[in-house]
Amino acid sequence: MPKYVYDFTEGNKDLKDLLGGKGANLAEMTNLGLPVPPGFTITTEACRHFLTEGRLPDGLEEEISRHLSALEAKMGRRLGQADDPLLVSVRSGAKFSMPGMMETVLNIGLNDESVHGLAKQSSGNERFAWDSYRRLIQMFGKTVQGIDGELFDDALEALKAGRDDLDLEAADFQRLVETYKGIVRDQTGEDFPADPHRQMRMAVEAVFRSWNAPRAILYRRQERIPADLGTAVNVCSMVFGNCGMDSGTGVAFTRDPGTGHQGVYGDYLQNAQGEDVVAGIRNTLSLQELERIDKPVYDELMQIMATLENHYRDLCDIEFTVERGKLWMLQTRVGKRTAGAAFRIAVQLAEQGLISMDEAVTRVTGDQLAQLMFPRFAGDADAKKIAKGMNASPGAAVGKAVFSSERAVELADRGENVILVRRETNPDDLAGMIAAQGVLTSRGGKTSHAAVVARGMGKTCVCGAEELEVSTQDRSFTAPGGVVVNEGDVISIDGSTGAVYLGEVPVVDSQVVEYFEGSGDHEDELVRAVDRVMRHADGMRRLEVRANADNAEDAARARRFGAQGIGLCRTEHMFLGDRRQLVEELILAETDAERERALEALRPLQQGDFVELFREMKGLPVTIRLLDPPLHEFLPDCTELSVKVALAGDRADEKDLKLLAAVKRLHEQNPMLGLRGVRLGLVIPGLFAMQVRAIAEAAKAVEGTRAEIMIPLVAAVQELESVRDEARAILAETGVEALVGTMIEVPRAALTAGQIAEAAEFFSFGTNDLTQMTWGFSRDDVEAAFFSRYLELGVFGVSPFESLDRDGVGRLVRLAAEEGRRTRPDIKLGICGEHGGDPDSIHFCHETGLDYVSCSPFRIPVARLEAGRAALVRTDSDTR
Ligand code: ADP
Ligand code: MG
Ligand code: MG
Repeated sequence: MPKYVYDFTEGNKDLKDLLGGKGANLAEMTNLGLPVPPGFTITTEACRHFLTEGRLPDGLEEEISRHLSALEAKMGRRLGQADDPLLVSVRSGAKFSMPGMMETVLNIGLNDESVHGLAKQSSGNERFAWDSYRRLIQMFGKTVQGIDGELFDDALEALKAGRDDLDLEAADFQRLVETYKGIVRDQTGEDFPADPHRQMRMAVEAVFRSWNAPRAILYRRQERIPADLGTAVNVCSMVFGNCGMDSGTGVAFTRDPGTGHQGVYGDYLQNAQGEDVVAGIRNTLSLQELERIDKPVYDELMQIMATLENHYRDLCDIEFTVERGKLWMLQTRVGKRTAGAAFRIAVQLAEQGLISMDEAVTRVTGDQLAQLMFPRFAGDADAKKIAKGMNASPGAAVGKAVFSSERAVELADRGENVILVRRETNPDDLAGMIAAQGVLTSRGGKTSHAAVVARGMGKTCVCGAEELEVSTQDRSFTAPGGVVVNEGDVISIDGSTGAVYLGEVPVVDSQVVEYFEGSGDHEDELVRAVDRVMRHADGMRRLEVRANADNAEDAARARRFGAQGIGLCRTEHMFLGDRRQLVEELILAETDAERERALEALRPLQQGDFVELFREMKGLPVTIRLLDPPLHEFLPDCTELSVKVALAGDRADEKDLKLLAAVKRLHEQNPMLGLRGVRLGLVIPGLFAMQVRAIAEAAKAVEGTRAEIMIPLVAAVQELESVRDEARAILAETGVEALVGTMIEVPRAALTAGQIAEAAEFFSFGTNDLTQMTWGFSRDDVEAAFFSRYLELGVFGVSPFESLDRDGVGRLVRLAAEEGRRTRPDIKLGICGEHGGDPDSIHFCHETGLDYVSCSPFRIPVARLEAGRAALVRTDSDTR
């Protein structure tokens, strides 16, 4: 039987899979000799068993009993012992932190008897004992028994009757306990469970179950956390921040999670317990004030924070409690941070010598870089500024103010941009936060729920804008000076400065984009950090990065952003606009002569486009794909044309009649699988030849051109051979050198790659089509129709169009790469689907040994960074 329970002294920080992040780090701190209240962790494996089998694994209860007995012996108290009770918290803690998503119950072990014992323990502090008891019933009722938390909140508000929570006395809390017990009885039909062991067991099961709470499922999907990991449960002996003004609870960061600056950042709340500090019941004190309140505790905390930073070699966030002048550490982890802080911190730590530059590069992600490339507000925005809150999560967001999660989702579904405005957010607001462009709250600090979750999602957030009076009921807020903002009014928020604006503020490019454009301010700390990381990543990566671009402007930007060539130039846009006329003539041609005339008219135009492109990309490879889409895409819409012809009756234009006949003739049930790609080249004489000639002539005109001619949609080597022979003949005739290769985007091409490589000098994986055809998905039809259901069912964790499906499509890519190389060892391999800019897919391309990825110009920096990171992370293929 596996070991399901680990004492805090048995685990360590590398056991996150088994003990969850919280448990592993509690163990790590225990082993570092830091003051952690003793306890033990029940593994994620036990949770997985519970969730799949519907019951606790055999032997678990005895194992828990054994550890509890040991804990009781260590503490010299028994759980819930009437005259001197041991109390514990039962805390969730998964491998990846999911702030506020799952459950924790404090003060387990209290009942009508032990509450007196607790008072006695604290030299007769009755107020504290009854406050702890009511907290237990409240948390237990809400999280374990599923009772609506508002019932408890309302009872507390009624009792307070406007008083501060500090003004409440023992008798008030005692009365509240009775009220709460009544609520439990009403709602469950049973008395609140008095047996401490039963309390504990029920809480453990509730924590396990909370893994599958709807909001946890939603969060995981958003954050791409696998659904089958399960959570661990930590049973931790209680320490009390709520037993007087010499006690309290707090949270802290070792660096500013917004800027990365080293220092002391945190909030502290006297005479409070657990989540009070983030829930905003009272205004918190800054951590600096703790120095004044209790210097020894403050000094010890500073020392511990330094220890943790050196030990983890990273920004840590911590939860701590002070019980009558004694400091206790309740949690630590490597803390979340904004994208900008991630770059700054990584480079700072490298410059301090705590980590290597290699490691610095692995500590930032392409997604974070992408976030830094978001636009920000133009400088003259101050005119409309109506309030200032805290800069909790950067970015510039503009949208209509909405005051509930539901409304946010509703409007966002209609394609509107919204800003979710709340007094403070809670886990139930998650759906609205995802739907919104940004989040604005009037209460709570940088460690509030809104701030933590928004940072994690990379969503713009301004929190704690206290000048705002938010009324959820009236769906409006009031700003100083009597400004009233109602639901639907447009506001703008700046997550980098905390500013709130009335109306729509214009946005400008980010300074990181300016840096990539070559005009950035190199003195700026963020720009400097990005520059160092990018240089190192470029030095380490093996993959080349190319761009998908089909005009000179995109090509120029791509080149400035560091593209090493063009991996995909689509030629179809060159058939649009005022050239449509010529394309129509080509399609309607009835004789060879007519067709040739149409093609000859198109050729110089094509040639001109290529000349521009080649000039921009001088010296770098440019892969041009011959015409790919079905021809009817270039013709007028069938219905419109039919109506036009019908209305004109006898006087219908002869050309319109011909066009209509062509539209009908070319109509396809499945255009995606119809007459397109290489098939066009084989069926329409002269079409591909015209394109190849245009490429060759353009190449001749621009010195230093490295053209690569790419044939789309090939499924069989014979198709490719005949087009290639035709192309080779033209190249020989014009005296131009160019590679001729193919896309691998039809499963049969991947399966016969060994044969196809006989005729292809390069392969470029067209993973959009390859994904469509491998899954049998028609992308435009299926994504909206049922992908959300598929994600819900876990058929895939992320859409295969977003991130390359390694098991299926990836297998075809691997196979084709291997067989292609076997036939032609120097064959060049790349990818040009949208996956070329997706971090996970880029890692796959590195592992598979491709030569380059090609992506949209704006994603080039992301691809460069991820290619560098892929080279720095050891993978199986690297070690083979
Ligand atoms: P979360 O994952 O939501 O942070 P935690 O398990 O950390 O949940 O607990 C919620 C709150 O209760 C935190 O503020 C934590 O510090 C506090 N807490 C947890 N266990 C104890 C304990 N044994 N003694 C005192 N406070 C505790
Ligand atoms: Mg919690
Ligand atoms: Mg916590």
